[in-house]
Amino acid sequence: MLRFVPSFQRQLRNRLVANSQRALFISCTRPAPLRRPLRSPVPSRRGILTSATTMPRSQNEMKTSLGSFDLLQRIKVDNSEVVISRWQSRESGLTVVHVDYDAPIVKGYFVVPTEIFNDSGCPHTLEHLVFLGSEKYPYKGVLDNLANRAFAAGTNAWTDTDHTAYTIETAGEQGFLQLLPVFVDHILYPTLADSGFVTEVHHINHKGEDAGVVYSEMQGRENTPGDLAALRQQRLFYPSGSAYRSETGGLMEALRKLTIDEIRNYHASYYVPHNLCLIVSGKLSTEALLGTVHREVEPRIKAHNQANGPRPAGWKRPFMETPSIQVAKMPETLKDVVEFPESDESIGELQLSFVGPTVHEHGDHRYLMDKAIDVLGVYLTESAVAPLTKQFVEIESPLCTYISFYESAKASFTTLDVHFGAVPTEELDLLAGKFKSALECIVRDGFDMNRIRLVLKKERLRVSSSLESSGGDYFTNSIINDFLYGDANGQDLGPLVAEFGRLKHLSEWTNQDWVNVLEKFYIKNNPVVIQSKPSAKLQEILEATEKARVQKQREKLGPVGLEKLKKILEDAKTEHDRPIPSEVLTSFPVPDVSTISWIPVDSARNESGKVTSRGRPPNAASTSVEDYLTKDPASVPYFIQFDHVKSHFITVSAYLSTAKVPPQLKPYISAYLSSFFMLPIIRSDGTRVSHEEVVRQLEDDTVSYGISLGYEGYFQELVRCSIKLETSQYSTGIAWLRDLLFCSEYDVERLTVIAAKLQQNLPEMKRDGNTVVGSVYGQLLFDETSTLQASALLAQLDFSPKLSQLLKTDPKRVVQDLQELRSYLTDPSALRFSVAGNVLALEKPRSAWMQYFKELPNVVLEPVPWASQNLSDIGKKPVRQGIVVSLATIESSFALHTTKSISGFGHPEHPALRLACEVLDGAESYLWKFIRGSGLAYGANLSLDSEAGLLSLQLYRCPNSFQAFEEAAKVVKGLADGSVAIEDTTIDAAKSSIAYDIAQSLSTPKKATTSSFVNQVLRDVPQDFGQLFLQQIRGVTKEEVQESIRKYILPLFDASSSVAVVVSAPSKAGEIKDSLTALGYEVEARTLDVRQEDLDAMEVDESGSEIDSDSENGSDSNDGMEPHR
Ligand SMILES: [Zn+2]
Repeated sequence: MLRFVPSFQRQLRNRLVANSQRALFISCTRPAPLRRPLRSPVPSRRGILTSATTMPRSQNEMKTSLGSFDLLQRIKVDNSEVVISRWQSRESGLTVVHVDYDAPIVKGYFVVPTEIFNDSGCPHTLEHLVFLGSEKYPYKGVLDNLANRAFAAGTNAWTDTDHTAYTIETAGEQGFLQLLPVFVDHILYPTLADSGFVTEVHHINHKGEDAGVVYSEMQGRENTPGDLAALRQQRLFYPSGSAYRSETGGLMEALRKLTIDEIRNYHASYYVPHNLCLIVSGKLSTEALLGTVHREVEPRIKAHNQANGPRPAGWKRPFMETPSIQVAKMPETLKDVVEFPESDESIGELQLSFVGPTVHEHGDHRYLMDKAIDVLGVYLTESAVAPLTKQFVEIESPLCTYISFYESAKASFTTLDVHFGAVPTEELDLLAGKFKSALECIVRDGFDMNRIRLVLKKERLRVSSSLESSGGDYFTNSIINDFLYGDANGQDLGPLVAEFGRLKHLSEWTNQDWVNVLEKFYIKNNPVVIQSKPSAKLQEILEATEKARVQKQREKLGPVGLEKLKKILEDAKTEHDRPIPSEVLTSFPVPDVSTISWIPVDSARNESGKVTSRGRPPNAASTSVEDYLTKDPASVPYFIQFDHVKSHFITVSAYLSTAKVPPQLKPYISAYLSSFFMLPIIRSDGTRVSHEEVVRQLEDDTVSYGISLGYEGYFQELVRCSIKLETSQYSTGIAWLRDLLFCSEYDVERLTVIAAKLQQNLPEMKRDGNTVVGSVYGQLLFDETSTLQASALLAQLDFSPKLSQLLKTDPKRVVQDLQELRSYLTDPSALRFSVAGNVLALEKPRSAWMQYFKELPNVVLEPVPWASQNLSDIGKKPVRQGIVVSLATIESSFALHTTKSISGFGHPEHPALRLACEVLDGAESYLWKFIRGSGLAYGANLSLDSEAGLLSLQLYRCPNSFQAFEEAAKVVKGLADGSVAIEDTTIDAAKSSIAYDIAQSLSTPKKATTSSFVNQVLRDVPQDFGQLFLQQIRGVTKEEVQESIRKYILPLFDASSSVAVVVSAPSKAGEIKDSLTALGYEVEARTLDVRQEDLDAMEVDESGSEIDSDSENGSDSNDGMEPHR
């Protein structure tokens, strides 16, 4: 994702997640991940259960031609409701693919293959500029303003190496068809004005510094290990002349030289109707879709003399008819090292790239080979017992903390990448050799064919589960690949999505077949090997070079030149501020919220042996869940909530409270979560099950399982563990829950492995400004009783080395501590269970529990712990405090400004405040325009945390976060005192966006049932809170929004009622600190670095990690990050 988009979940606290294969900290702040998506030639990483049947046209009742469109291909995906049809206009050459299936949300992906032979970033800059207005709608933001009125999420887009995709989602058909012609007008006929280039792509500000939205974005990416390695790989791997060598995002140096005319030329060549594919997934009529395109899009194309059919004279299909078609050739292994700036030099990364199956050699067979390689990757790495994971990760001194296999389709072959994460620096040089030896061992010893069978079974289950949650949207990647690289007449689409045959075919493969694939592609094939090595020196060099460059630029421009640039920027902003005539907006009708269809959840609760109904939708099944449960005679004393929905699966979960866990045990939570599914178990009959057997059986019995703190960043004082299964496996799921909760053995050897992995992941996380800012925020606003705080990055930086040390010197104590922790967590007084999915298909919905949990007593439950109970003194009264952390690994800054807010989800002022936040930070809203639009930040949004009672302004990836903060203050003050007026259309749009957000948050069976539980049990609001909230939002007036801004948001900008946490590149840290001080904040400067204690602990470590202990970046205090205890 290269564009920032706000979502409904207003959250920013860090959460800790452990899953079946890899424990890691996930920062759940909203900005989307910025690494470009790695696509596989098959849909996503997983395969497909279903096969596909090409429908003979004669038997197809549907027309084969509609308006100017001819049907190229129509596929019914077997064992599903999904029908895919591909059409092309004989007039304009436009391609339309309709993926037809039942779903409340309609999604559009508008795809342009974007081949380029340099690093100018034209594809990416164009992606941004398209949103600034079109010929027919020449206003910045008009697209998102209209989208916002039509129950749509603001539009979005991404740019990959080979294409740009523009996306839109709406609740329902009407809004979608309204928006489609407007969006396509933007894509084909954008204004591409000079002023847009200035703010959105690149400019030099009045201080002589480079800025602009795209520029800042790439500034944040270019020197990260991921991007550095990716570019070096591209250069070494693809033959000269190939467009796959290019950085389509734009290198900073190239962006500084890029002109709007180059972008206009690029647009004229590639953004043409015969190079555009409109993919539309969801429930709407194909006739209405093609009719809309024919009536409202094609006349525009004709008016531009672009209706020249599918293949105009002289047109060369990108990638397929250019030098990019060449197959990469590796006569020998190529090794290279890229350095990335990082003061902690202990951990790096390694990437291997191989030439995979080629079209030339494998033809149609290529898809089978791709699938085999995908399965091979799962076999080798997924789960703790997978051969490579077992050998490289699950050991006392891990050689890496994860291994991932990726496939990506190119014009004539598939690229195979293997990525090793968090590799100790001294291993970087050796790991590729060890990888090869390990594979040779497998060739020698043979594959475990039982595990192969298991992996293939798992594939089918996972696909079935994904199809249930995503429907036909699941095929999007395949369809994009088909448009890029498939047969121009759509003949490859059928084979591409037909995976059932492939999986079946693979289940017949012998050991030798698998050995052949492994040997051919990974052993006998020569890779490009890229080591990413941390370098403290490089960091200084980059900083010094950048300073000198800016200084020189400033001098060269001189005061007159700078003044001129200032004027250019101001003029550009003025041009953007040209208001959209309100009739353009009001001509777009706002759909009625009552037209949104919700997934019905029938809910009942078992408590103290009794069953009570907890919410029954009007259109639910004829048997109520309450009646059904009552018919299963069992006196179950404890709390189980049942949420029924139409589904093939059932999920059993336990919610544990950390409220009673003493503070000294809380740091163990990370280890508890990470080890949860990976320890030996002593069953009640005394049998010991080894950890490998536990992992193997879990894989066999379940669809998926996971454990985390809280739910989507909220309620992190709770631990939630869930197991998803086929309905028939219900009681097996309950048995697992019991064994995992009560019977795990804290085996020291296993714990040592897990602790080492946890520790090794930390340096990587420390490189992420967003994770660090979230962690410092947690530390400032929450106290030592907070689990959230104890499990976040900063506390773990402190605790993790201690744990590893303790496991050597006093392992008994660790075991005792963990046992004690478990006894607090599983205390019956705070234990709640959830059963979600197809409850009406369960044989013994209640009595199955008595078989495994009979010992649990009937007790009065403690209330659910809320974050508001763990606030620190500052969290209770956030005033004047400021912290500026200098973080050497980033080039921009991240900030959180926080004030006191309303507490509780049912608070009467909640709807008005939520709407006020949306008015401020929704797509094309005030913050978007004034901050993002002027290149002051990549993202700016408000996070309302009703659980903790705090409100934060989050500034994401800014050249200088203080400038963005100042600008936000100006806007909010203007809105508060009325000098900036709020239009009615702004309020309509914000309400409509919230409607979409809520519909989206309830759009799959899983989301609907989880929401039912979270609302009733955790948030303490009714089951249908989302729908009720929407009704309340409808009634909020403009005056109430203004009042909310004055009362709750304005205090963010006053030092006497707010606190500020900033993480910044060292070059800006001082300036930001001074600016905040001038506003009245008492600012503490810190530097995040490795502390002496950590070093001491690590030196004892037998892994012999070499840590560079100096911190030469002029920090105010070396151990500034010590937790406040
Ligand atoms: Zn971007």
